[in-house]
Amino acid sequence: MQNIIITGGTGYIGSHTAVALQESGFKVVVFDNLSNSTTDSLYGIERITGTRPEFVQIDCTDLSALRDAFSRHSDAVGVIHFAALKAVGESVQRPLLYYRNNLVGLMNVLLCMTEFEIPSIVFSSSATVYGVPETLPVTEDTPLQPATSPYGQTKVIGETIVRDCVAANPKMRATLLRYFNPIGAHPSGFIGENPSGIPNNLMPYITQTAAGIRPILRVFGNDYDTPDGFCIRDYIDVNDLAAAHVAALNNMLSGTDGVSTFNLGTGRGYSVMELIDAFRDATGVSVPYEIVARRDGDVPAIWADATSAAKVLNWRAKVPLSNTLQSAWRWQINSGEKKS
Ligand code: NAD
Ligand code: UDP
Repeated sequence: MQNIIITGGTGYIGSHTAVALQESGFKVVVFDNLSNSTTDSLYGIERITGTRPEFVQIDCTDLSALRDAFSRHSDAVGVIHFAALKAVGESVQRPLLYYRNNLVGLMNVLLCMTEFEIPSIVFSSSATVYGVPETLPVTEDTPLQPATSPYGQTKVIGETIVRDCVAANPKMRATLLRYFNPIGAHPSGFIGENPSGIPNNLMPYITQTAAGIRPILRVFGNDYDTPDGFCIRDYIDVNDLAAAHVAALNNMLSGTDGVSTFNLGTGRGYSVMELIDAFRDATGVSVPYEIVARRDGDVPAIWADATSAAKVLNWRAKVPLSNTLQSAWRWQINSGEKKS
């Protein structure tokens, strides 16, 4: 059985990817400092797959501890590096925290991979690297725009660091995955997104408002130059996203060298209002909302051209939006039950 190290593996996307990897026959080792997750997700993974991944509580910015952990898992054939802080607003307030956590963490992982000769890395990048795109949909060749937040910068710079390392080391290979807007949860309801405090992102805000935890959803702006005036995003099911990581890893393990970059989206944009309506249609629950001013830094519209992932990785987003919204709602209800 081939071993894979997942940094940030107790988090939202990492836990779903752990399930997908275990279901594809890999053995998973999770490295996480639990700064934005708990070990509950390991239990959820075990309930779904029958196997609890090995867990190492570790901070990727601590090089000596990381080296020690890698030395004990030097038989790993690849690393999926999710570990990062991701709150855009907080990154504006605390840029050094974000640069240090996201970039020192990444550099330490790359250093350990080099030292222990682990050749393949998947790096979690983001559609944020496209900034406000001039043409839609965006392909991987759409020019990158200056990032609008320190968080976004850590993705732009992180991609560059990975590229430079691969260029300097012919034994190393990498896949940069640019996620669009991941939403939803595992259909079992055993793992999902666990935002701490007030959610920044639309989907957990919708489900928490539907559950009565938040009184009202604030919709940021209805005067954008889009068909209905609301911002447009490409919402992708987290289980589809997880499957793409397995495909990316298999692509590298079967010998693809160098650096590959893929957009991971559905190829279809939905406006904020379309998503609210789709949630009501899928779950029968109407979410109270009010329209307020635009949020600073929001991109009016972005969605992916994901044909490259389809051609090279044979990967496509498959889960219908209604199923995704139902899984998000199921997870919300389950996590409410756990807390009460
Ligand atoms: P998440 O916060 O649920 O998971 C990240 C995990 O990394 C958490 O469990 C956290 O405890 C851990 N972590 C953070 N810093 C660490 C460190 N220094 N050492 C060890 N562990 C650390 O977030 P997520 O949504 O699962 O995101 C995973 C990755 O995908 C991140 O790199 C994020 O930037 C990227 N991404 C997420 C989205 C999104 O909307 N969720 C979109 C684009 C890109
Ligand atoms: N949004 C909103 N109310 C919220 C949170 C988000 O109207 O409480 C909108 C936001 O303006 C954007 C879309 O929902 O148009 C997606 O926002 P999110 O923060 O989830 O993702 P991102 O902006 O990073 O794409």
